[in-house]
Amino acid sequence: MDAVLEPAAAARTAWRVGTVVEARPETSTARRIVLEVPDWPGNDAGQHLDVRLTAPDGYQATRSYSIASAGASTRVELAVDELPDGEVSPFLVQDLAVGDQLELHGPLGGYFVWMPQSETHDERPVQLIAGGSGVVPLLAMVRSHRATVDPTAFRLLYAVRAPDDVFYSRELAELTAGPNPLRLDFVYSRRAPHDWPVPAGRITREALEAFVVPAAQRPRVYLCGSTGFVERIAGWLIELGHAPGDIRTERFGGS
Ligand SMILES: Cc1cc2nc3c(=O)[nH]c(=O)nc-3n(C[C@H](O)[C@H](O)[C@H](O)COP(=O)(O)OP(=O)(O)OC[C@H]3O[C@@H](n4cnc5c(N)ncnc54)[C@H](O)[C@@H]3O)c2cc1C
Repeated sequence: MDAVLEPAAAARTAWRVGTVVEARPETSTARRIVLEVPDWPGNDAGQHLDVRLTAPDGYQATRSYSIASAGASTRVELAVDELPDGEVSPFLVQDLAVGDQLELHGPLGGYFVWMPQSETHDERPVQLIAGGSGVVPLLAMVRSHRATVDPTAFRLLYAVRAPDDVFYSRELAELTAGPNPLRLDFVYSRRAPHDWPVPAGRITREALEAFVVPAAQRPRVYLCGSTGFVERIAGWLIELGHAPGDIRTERFGGS
């Protein structure tokens, strides 16, 4: 007997088609891609989608990408970092062109999302922690926070290889000004700006403690990056007194 999907279930499993309307370098290894997806239902800040590529011989590869945009628009923004030996990301960063179409599935994920205080009635501060491209879903949260004029205190700790590798650098700088500004701290692992007070190096527990909202203030923590980064940081946060239930994580893969 053929399976019959209820409309809601069918929508959850459906693949949509998006057309690339903008593609530009974000850093020397990453690219910002904006898609027009006519039947996109909108998405919450922090959600992701799946991209499916199909080769001429029918071979398919699917990867997840966080959504940098949020809200009711049919424009969906991604930012993809190229892994040199990767199967999918080199195509998205180097070959995909404006006018091309992509198969998408989503929006996905209901856990790693941030909702404005008007919906949650939650006055606790928010601490965002990004490793590399892990900043993408956190940017969506910061954008939503600004768009809804939400009074929650927001702080972002961004661990990145070098100043040139910062995603959305100009926009993040702008978000540190204005009403209820974002508090932004960087940790550089390979090369720091020339006048930076701390030498470049892997993030330490001491740096983490210095740059995050103290556990006593019970921040809601959103932590995103490679699997190794997320596990190391989450372990230190718990050692520093943050409750495991207050730490939401998204792992991008890799060590
Ligand atoms: C929920 C979710 C959201 C994501 N959002 C983004 C995003 O916004 N931007 C983005 O650039 N990527 C994001 N990723 C990662 C993305 O899905 C792919 O894993 C990444 O683009 C590599 O795919 P690939 O096919 O090029 O490499 P693959 O062929 O899958 O892998 C190549 C090699 O790189 C390793 N590897 C895979 N992923 C990573 C990683 N993240 N870091 C280090 N090494 C890795 C693999 O183990 C393998 O050795 C997200 C992943 C998840 C699960």
